[in-house]
Amino acid sequence: MSESETKKSLNFIEEIIEDDLRTGKWDGRVVTRFPPEPNGYLHIGHAKSICLNFGLANKYGGVCNLRFDDTNPAKEEDEYVRSITEDIGWLGFGDDRDVLFASDYFEQLYAWAVQLIKTGHAYVCDLSPEETRKHRGTLTTPGVNSPFRDRPAGENLDLFERMRRGEFADGSRTLRAKIDMASPNTNLRDPVMYRILHAEHHRTGDAWSVYPMYDWAHGLEDSIEGVTHSICTLEFENHRPLYDWFIEAINSGRGSDGSFGEKIHHPQQIEFARLGLNYTLMSKRKLLELVRDGHVTGWDDPRMPTLSGMRRRGYTPESIRTFCERVGVAKTNSTIDMAKQEHCVREDLNARASRVMCVLRPLKVVIENWSDGGDENRVEMMEAINNPEDASAGVREVPFGKELYIERSDFMEEPPRKFFRLGPDREVRLRYGYWIRCVGFEKNEAGAVTLLRCTYDPATRGGDSPPDGRKVKGTLHWVAADSAVEAEVRLFDRLFVAENPDKAADGGDYHDNLNPESLERLSGCKLEANWMDSGGPAWSDGIRRVQFERQGYFCLDRRDAAADRPVFNRTVGLRDSWAKLAARGGK
Ligand code: ATP
Ligand code: MG
Repeated sequence: MSESETKKSLNFIEEIIEDDLRTGKWDGRVVTRFPPEPNGYLHIGHAKSICLNFGLANKYGGVCNLRFDDTNPAKEEDEYVRSITEDIGWLGFGDDRDVLFASDYFEQLYAWAVQLIKTGHAYVCDLSPEETRKHRGTLTTPGVNSPFRDRPAGENLDLFERMRRGEFADGSRTLRAKIDMASPNTNLRDPVMYRILHAEHHRTGDAWSVYPMYDWAHGLEDSIEGVTHSICTLEFENHRPLYDWFIEAINSGRGSDGSFGEKIHHPQQIEFARLGLNYTLMSKRKLLELVRDGHVTGWDDPRMPTLSGMRRRGYTPESIRTFCERVGVAKTNSTIDMAKQEHCVREDLNARASRVMCVLRPLKVVIENWSDGGDENRVEMMEAINNPEDASAGVREVPFGKELYIERSDFMEEPPRKFFRLGPDREVRLRYGYWIRCVGFEKNEAGAVTLLRCTYDPATRGGDSPPDGRKVKGTLHWVAADSAVEAEVRLFDRLFVAENPDKAADGGDYHDNLNPESLERLSGCKLEANWMDSGGPAWSDGIRRVQFERQGYFCLDRRDAAADRPVFNRTVGLRDSWAKLAARGGK
């Protein structure tokens, strides 16, 4: 590849990094980070950021820190820390790295705040939260200075220390940066750096009564860790001047300019477009509501866009990484078609999943002339290919006998012309089995077909064409009745019927767009014999994945399945079901 061609295939962040490496801006270092707030489970949007940050570190021989941004004690829990760490490992990143916590930097952040008070860059403000908001102005009108703005440094220091010790009530005082109440960028209108909160923190306990605001802490956490490329989503673009201001204010009292020690590291922030998916909610608050209000069974419900949900549904980490790679890195927000994500997992599973037969809605078939081939009770073993995409997957033996199951939808009493499956006096191929012809059927009182009587042609063993040159158009999957294993199968549809779940008529919200048919549970499904014992080992992440011929890709549910209780989740259908869904979405 020529240099210009190499250049073309880089995304804009890679271009920045390669320029920095060329000019020696960071002495050849590449340090990125992924900074989740432990207030929910990770979702596919986070995966985008994880793949980007860890991916860049891998590509350029750098490091990516996993840092929990746990500056807000009220909403954070250890359960989230655990799940986030686990999900990142599952995606394939971060194994060899220590986990970092912003709360470990509280003391350093406090010291810097004290420095800014001393140099006249910060003050304690006694305005209430409402008053502070009122003083802030609007996008079109400037703010108004706080009456406490010119408090002497000594008084500020005393008050700030007492805030820390817990002498004052929640909300009664704040520490604010002294910047510019008339700035057109409202983030620079004397933003709050610390608020008083008498709250228990998941790691620091009750040691602190003041907690740093995100905007004060975030850029400095990056500085402490020596992050070179601080990659974040677009909504932080107009926070960047504030992060720069904080570091410059600290540094103005340092180095040869002042007496507070060495200058601190100043990371470069780069913004990119967040990932949005149609038919999907990505707000942690709303995902939490779905869990809390029982619209789903938990954060790892297979319909959730969380990594734990996708994992439970059968998504492979490889397919998620491929998806994030293909989506690319953009500078403007857009919504990606969910079908793209499904395409990636289908492609991966097609290459790797072994095939078996499972009848989801069984209809019994009796082969009336089975005794033509010998003992009526005999079971013949048929050779079946495990994965036509992968010869190394080999073959297996599938039992065939007098009684079988086929799919209810593969028979019609009065089939239309284009229906190539089974009907009265019609013939089909049973995959890897024999050709069978329907010679009769039984119905119950409600008129539903309950049993098919068929004959088989002994000359079609293995599903081969008979010598007389006869043809059939349909090939069905089937399972021998005697040895079939009973399974439960869960089919999923999208959680929301609207492309933008947040868009609802007449002041409604995403609740109005919940799909009442997003989960279908089928019990009494008939799974090919022996699969539970021999149906391939678990994949590297411990999940057992498989293709049910003609039905899609499935995996054993990691919560509910047991050795004697197969419970499968459908990961994705065999084909793009897009058209059907678009129609239902009312487009
Ligand atoms: P909130 O801050 O509202 O709780 P969040 O989605 O920003 O939600 P964080 O835990 O702060 O949650 O996110 C961690 C990192 O993941 C951030 O750096 C953020 O930029 C990134 N991120 C979150 N959502 C997306 C998304 N949809 N696309 C790309 N990156 C994302
Ligand atoms: Mg955030």
